[in-house]
Amino acid sequence: MLKRTTLGRLLPRRFAVSALTAISVVLSALQPSHSQQKGVPVVRDAEIEALVREYARPILKAAGLSNSGIEIVLVNDQSFNAFVAGRRIFINTGTLLQAETPNEVIGVLAHEAGHIAGGHQQRLRDQMARAQTMAIVASLLGIGATVAGAASNTRGLAQAGTGLALGGTEAARRGLLAYQRTEETTADRSALVYLERTGQSPAGMLTTFKRFQSALALTGSRIDPYRISHPTPRDRIANLEVLARKSPYFDKTDSPALQQRHDMMRAKIAVYTQGQSAAQRLFKQERSSVAAKYGDAQASFLFGNPKAALGKVDALLKDQPKNPYFHELRGDALMKANRPAEAAKAYATAVRLDPSKSGILLMSQGQALLAMGTKESAAQAAAQLRKGLDIDPENAVAYRYLAQAYGQLGEIAQAELATADGYYYSGEYQQAKIMAARAQQKFKRGSPGWVRAQDIINFKTGKKRK
Ligand SMILES: [Zn+2]
Repeated sequence: MLKRTTLGRLLPRRFAVSALTAISVVLSALQPSHSQQKGVPVVRDAEIEALVREYARPILKAAGLSNSGIEIVLVNDQSFNAFVAGRRIFINTGTLLQAETPNEVIGVLAHEAGHIAGGHQQRLRDQMARAQTMAIVASLLGIGATVAGAASNTRGLAQAGTGLALGGTEAARRGLLAYQRTEETTADRSALVYLERTGQSPAGMLTTFKRFQSALALTGSRIDPYRISHPTPRDRIANLEVLARKSPYFDKTDSPALQQRHDMMRAKIAVYTQGQSAAQRLFKQERSSVAAKYGDAQASFLFGNPKAALGKVDALLKDQPKNPYFHELRGDALMKANRPAEAAKAYATAVRLDPSKSGILLMSQGQALLAMGTKESAAQAAAQLRKGLDIDPENAVAYRYLAQAYGQLGEIAQAELATADGYYYSGEYQQAKIMAARAQQKFKRGSPGWVRAQDIINFKTGKKRK
């Protein structure tokens, strides 16, 4: 199941992606403004995360980033965008939905890996600090000229001063943007190298940039080429195309099995973000495909009745009995039908079959066990939730269920500590500290629970977490 979550879970609360710090593959002019000001709306899903990580793994290896702890974060945003912040690659669900092949997404990931491997972010920050200094100096010079002009009572000179002030800031900004454009070209070149090293086609990258060009055409406005932080798509495509066509893998396509998983992911995102019939629209040419049927089952689960969804999932399972996400959807539908014991079994099967060992599936299993309402199932729920949290320790929602499980078991100190952790990973530090202090009084001094509570109490809210 696709789960929305707050950014606090993953990043410090005040983290905001500004137009300048976001190194993105799309023109900043096209970015929705909300993502520039507020936090990033993160979305979690075992199936999508596993697939995108599979796309990224060989690329990160080729980029020498296998052991760099690079995380991939899904952003709940319908626009086509991806960007890098720290050691995280953020990719919009809109990118995954619009990309028709795995190769297109892999091209985007290769470009973003190019930014990380090139250390572009740190240098971008340095460059920004310098640009700001330049801008301040230029403004002061401009003001000085304005004052001088006003003092000599010469209108022309005063105007010249104002012009100079604006010109100075503009020059600094253009200098910075020109620098960013160079980094984009570098990232493109790196991406080509990683794709060749992994024996994959750069054609998807080209398709992606062509899509940008048409997106730009759709805005219908002329954009000052100096104002955009990326090379104008036409230049970028032309340069890239010449190099890309030299790749021996240019005509290589994704395997049918991978394409099918990609289409299933797109069907799921379509239904979750664009409504009941979105997957049917997306796959109207291939109504009998597994992806179309999967989208239909997801739509029944989300918008229809769970019984209909169960029938559709069971039909899918006849074809692919070992698909963990079919079992997951079966669990989701059973939960909605208020059949938690069967749901717990379906999730247990999903967990067993999941090669990516996702903490999310364990969390769903724990939630179902908890809903069964017996002491025995609460103990099992706590165990599975803990396992899930070992894998995915920042999953705020899982702590809330863990707290309920401990509550049912009468373990109040553990319940309060789990509640504190839930607040902590949601970025609600004040509440977290209050609850941690309450839990700590019930733990033996120096015990693991006591130490964890102390960590939360000691956490400096102003300090950036890693
Ligand atoms: Zn870029």
